[in-house]
Amino acid sequence: MKTVTQEQIALEEIDIPGYERIIKIHDPKSGLKALIAIHDPTLGPALGGTRIFPYANWDEALFDVLRLSKGMTYKAAVSGLGLGGGKSVIIADPKHHITPDQLRAFGRVVNQLEGTYICSEDMGCTEEHLKYVREETEYVVGLAHPKSSGNPSPFTAYGVFRGIQSVAQHAYGSDLLQGKTIAIQGLGAVGEALAEHLFWAGARLIVCDRDNEKAERLAKKYAATVCSPDEILSVKCDILAPCAMGGILNSVTIPKLNCRAVAGAANNQLQSDNHAIDLIQHGIIYAPDFLINSGGLINVSFEIEPEGYNPVLARDKIDTIYEQLLTIFEISKDNKCSTHQAAVELASYRLRYGVGKRGSQLVFHHD
Ligand code: NAD
Repeated sequence: MKTVTQEQIALEEIDIPGYERIIKIHDPKSGLKALIAIHDPTLGPALGGTRIFPYANWDEALFDVLRLSKGMTYKAAVSGLGLGGGKSVIIADPKHHITPDQLRAFGRVVNQLEGTYICSEDMGCTEEHLKYVREETEYVVGLAHPKSSGNPSPFTAYGVFRGIQSVAQHAYGSDLLQGKTIAIQGLGAVGEALAEHLFWAGARLIVCDRDNEKAERLAKKYAATVCSPDEILSVKCDILAPCAMGGILNSVTIPKLNCRAVAGAANNQLQSDNHAIDLIQHGIIYAPDFLINSGGLINVSFEIEPEGYNPVLARDKIDTIYEQLLTIFEISKDNKCSTHQAAVELASYRLRYGVGKRGSQLVFHHD
């Protein structure tokens, strides 16, 4: 049941070719400044997190929300989730300058969209923030309650682990990771969980985090070698797993890479699409980020299935990242294109012909 408790907020639509709907929100009463982008709803309602970040201006926020929402369309399409791509950004410092009133105002706008956009956690946005959004709308997932899918990071990490096995199969003819050296950049929610999977699978680990104490602690736990943030992208390894920030594959870093493959959780790893070609020229296999890191989205998507959240179904679907990646490697080889291009083409094909379009209604199992 919708719980609109206050007046509606006037929305300003921004027309951008290729996007279904871009909504600019400026609520003078609460001070909320936000954007919601629905990129492509062909396969289902748009689901994507709400990023809270102190963007310098509207243009910066718009650039981010456009890029992120498009990525969500591809991610949902390649994973066959019957969802569209969307994202939202709130212009605020998540630690100091976001108020419950702003979050409630944001919730009212989400509610006005009547389920065409569903929000969840993202950078800067926690379960605590979403609690206020939920006061105004049911179109929110990943809240802290017993029917929720909970923390997505362990599921993302498991998907990245299966993706790394797939990359090993493609690169070395075996998915066994014993004796393979894997370097992880970033030991946050995903990187730490990934390190554990890799350790138990027999990999030799190189670990790195801006927080050196954390890197030292995990190095001790997993008999890993610590590498500095300045050196992680050129360290000699079999597979490099970027699990920190985007844009790390670019014309400066690619010539210095000293690995057979790149396969990690970070979003938007390629600074631009052309860098996927540079990777090929340097003989480096690349696991498209929006495919290998889709475990968290897959997990949360099961929360709104009619039968309710089931972690077994989520895990089994995430397992298929292994085969999906092998398919991408084959498409890339057959079509002489980059793996990034192959994954984009696969997603585009599904969008063009409605493959994987949602058949069932979404059900929000809130407490
Ligand atoms: P996080 O914030 O928990 O962890 C990021 C870690 O990277 C932190 O420990 C930080 O200190 C470290 N870091 C930042 N810059 C670094 C640098 N230059 N060198 C070394 N370490 C650095 O984030 P997370 O949830 O683990 O996500 C990691 C990446 O995966 C992000 O790009 C995120 O967008 C992406 N991702 C996460 C999920 C998820 O479920 N959490 C899903 C899909 C994609």
